Amino acid sequence: MTQNTPITVAHGDGIGPEIMEATLHILKEAGARIDTEVIEIGEKVYLRGNATGMEPGAFDSLRRTKVFLKAPITTPQGGGYKSLNVTTRKTFGLFANVRPCVSYHPFVETKHPKMDVVIVRENEEDLYAGIEHRQTQQVVQTLKLMSRPGCERISRYAFEYAKANGRKKVTCFTKDNIMKMTDGMFHEVFEEVAKEYSDIVNEHWIVDIGAAKLADSPENFDVVVMPNLYGDILSDVAAQIAGSVGLAGSANIGETVAMFEAIHGSAPRRAGQNLANPSGLLLGGVMMLVHIGQADVAERVHNAWLRTLEDGVHTYDVASEGVTKQKVGTKEFAQAVVDRLGKLPETLKPISYATSKAFDVPKASPMVHQKKVLVGVDVFLEWQSQVPEEVGDPVSKLGGDDFELKVISNRGQRIYPGAAPETTCTDHWRCRFMGRQGMTITGKKIAELLGRVADAGYDCIKTENLYTFDGKDGFSGVHGA
Ligand code: NAD
Repeated sequence: MTQNTPITVAHGDGIGPEIMEATLHILKEAGARIDTEVIEIGEKVYLRGNATGMEPGAFDSLRRTKVFLKAPITTPQGGGYKSLNVTTRKTFGLFANVRPCVSYHPFVETKHPKMDVVIVRENEEDLYAGIEHRQTQQVVQTLKLMSRPGCERISRYAFEYAKANGRKKVTCFTKDNIMKMTDGMFHEVFEEVAKEYSDIVNEHWIVDIGAAKLADSPENFDVVVMPNLYGDILSDVAAQIAGSVGLAGSANIGETVAMFEAIHGSAPRRAGQNLANPSGLLLGGVMMLVHIGQADVAERVHNAWLRTLEDGVHTYDVASEGVTKQKVGTKEFAQAVVDRLGKLPETLKPISYATSKAFDVPKASPMVHQKKVLVGVDVFLEWQSQVPEEVGDPVSKLGGDDFELKVISNRGQRIYPGAAPETTCTDHWRCRFMGRQGMTITGKKIAELLGRVADAGYDCIKTENLYTFDGKDGFSGVHGA
């Protein structure tokens, strides 16, 4: 007899326990060969004073089983609570978030009957670093951090996923017309990786028009890969326009651990009323079964679930007049799926996982070392004024023999020398000092410059070193410069 696969299970908050119970009931009845190890996570754990929302033993369980089926949780409002989802994704390097958004026309109402899109969201980087600072009276910042290996792995994952699942096209969304270095790198690496997959069509859209097209005519998209924040937002949009946010499951894939969940949250207002649709978590469970090599069970569950939708057995969120024959609660829906195990849908296309090929989680290529040279520094000052010359004239005298003040900007817009009179200034000023011709810039020279800035009475709130890499600027230019 084959051994059961151990999996870690968390019942979560809000509607979590109800949809998890329904999902496990269906998986068990379908013959899933799994042993569950239950851990406690979420609101209660946060409120007991654990800022991560997870008991210490939870990570041990994940390290042991390497497979996590997770119901949604509620992150308490207020400061100090770190998102458990982000912590889990980052701790275990779950870099790829795969979210299929499919319409089930004519059984679930949608404006997009032919929609079948898979969003591949980068899951570890971008604005989700959560590194934020208040720097002046007026200004706060968040850091958007992206790495070349991170960009490469997610693009490669998207193409490998497309290849393994018979998909024809991979589209990339970025905002690289504005964020030329971060999103620019994502786009550039996407183009590099795309060249290795000549059988798969590739294209890129700026995320604003791309999102508009996705919402308007999703049937023109197949696999769509994007940085973390855009993926977070657009996968909810995609799931909702396919029929309901309650219908989409999600896989978070890393090299050793994988986590499976619904894309929606804990919907606390629907909790405890036997109302919620368990389909998102169930489809997350189906992705889990494929992942652990139980494609036969995954297929049984998925097809019985499609048949249930077809038979007009619907939870409140997808129920519609003329199509719904039986409006049911969470438990009754789960039982309806169980009753149809072994049956195939008659109108919708039956699912076969036999044609999906397993593929290794892609790794990034070894880094090519480039020559890095320190060429200047951006010195950020807090200063209350609407008159750029009041900062610019005295600060330009602080460069000494090593540095020359090239430009001062306020919220990225050049205001010295030569501000446009209409530009509003905050109290956050960026002074760009470049090394003078022929001067070698060192960390010590920057420290001396900062000493002169402090002696002159300025409040330096941060600095950013300016480097070139193989002679190419590793920093953005200044608007209006
Ligand atoms: P939500 O996704 O929980 O709910 C939004 C609305 O969508 C609900 O009011 C409900 O009308 C509908 N809905 C969602 N899931 C449904 C389902 N299965 N069946 C029927 N209807 C469903 O979003 P929210 O209200 O913004 O967030 C609630 C909580 O969930 C917050 O604490 C948030 O932090 C958390 N959250 C958790 C996760 C996660 O654990 N992965 C993800 C997103 C949000």
